[in-house]
Amino acid sequence: MRAVSAVASPLRRISPIALRQGLRRGFSSSRNLQATWGFIGLGRMGFPMAKNLRAKIPAEDTIFVQDVNTAASKKFLEENPQGVRIADNVREVAEKAETIITVLPEPQHVAGVYKQILEPPTLLKDGFTTTERLFIDCSTIDPMTSGHVANAAHTSGQGKFIDAPMSGGVVGAQAGTLTFMIGAAPEVVERATAVLSLMGRRVLHLGDQGSGLKGKLANNYLLALNNIATAEAMNMGIQWGLDPKALAGMINISTGKCWPSEVNNPVPGVIEGAPASRGYEGGFGVTLANKDLKLAIKAAKEAKIKLALADTAQAFYDEVEQAENCKGRDFSVVYRYLGGKE
Ligand code: NAD
Repeated sequence: MRAVSAVASPLRRISPIALRQGLRRGFSSSRNLQATWGFIGLGRMGFPMAKNLRAKIPAEDTIFVQDVNTAASKKFLEENPQGVRIADNVREVAEKAETIITVLPEPQHVAGVYKQILEPPTLLKDGFTTTERLFIDCSTIDPMTSGHVANAAHTSGQGKFIDAPMSGGVVGAQAGTLTFMIGAAPEVVERATAVLSLMGRRVLHLGDQGSGLKGKLANNYLLALNNIATAEAMNMGIQWGLDPKALAGMINISTGKCWPSEVNNPVPGVIEGAPASRGYEGGFGVTLANKDLKLAIKAAKEAKIKLALADTAQAFYDEVEQAENCKGRDFSVVYRYLGGKE
């Protein structure tokens, strides 16, 4: 992991003045000091992220927002009336903003939005040079789609594009405590870190463009498998007659310990406050977990990387996602699907 220690706690290292200068850095032909921002995708994650961004940037800056769901943009403007403008379309965002953040559901949405922006080229219309425009995509998509978009932006000289997928969920987005994993050319790391620090607590630079997504997908692949394995192991022990809390306590000081066993244990009552203890409500939805698993498997297969457990895990999550008593729940609901005692 490159440069992580240098940027892992950016807010502690960058003073507000330096942060502001960092955000301004590179705008050599700027006519004024007001910065312009773009935010595309005001969903469960994007809405609170944009809210934090608006609250932390200077009052005189402007954010241009856009969402195909016009109700989301209107709600955002109502809640944040100062320094927010609703753009007619994504091209207008790109023409007016120096720093553009996208938080979209799936690869096809990211590809579609950037196609609209980049073809035919959009140019900033207020005197900034186009090479200074920074696109930050926080969506969880496959590295290949992200690479195509980056290539289209870079080869046409329309700005720098980086991938910055995140973890921390809706709660982290609201609290401004997200972790971003970024794939970016070295020259944009400082600027991107300053921007993302307005919406999160940690920014990890994993390497060149695409690296953030590769890191995120590798992690979420492991998480998806650990989640199934934990549910199976807990179910096994409980069916053999072990006490759930005693079993979890033992695992959590032994070699089987992992995030699903320690923090998000799938057995109701083992960890107070975990989704399992409130009917599997909230948390990391089984649909999102399955989406990330599929992206990881697809990207690994494209790179001809051998995976032993992928197909079984994918088929399993497909079933859980559709099951009436599991649909829409936290992914630890796999324990229920296995017939675990609740
Ligand atoms: P969401 O579906 O709630 O929001 C996506 C938003 O994008 C919606 O408001 C939608 O109307 C908008 N949109 C779709 N197509 C558009 C277009 N062409 N132009 C403009 N807007 C468009 O999704 P989310 O939960 O906010 O997740 C966003 C991304 O973040 C996903 O890639 C997801 O995997 C990732 N993520 C989500 C979570 C989570 O807990 N929700 C956690 C980490 C990462």
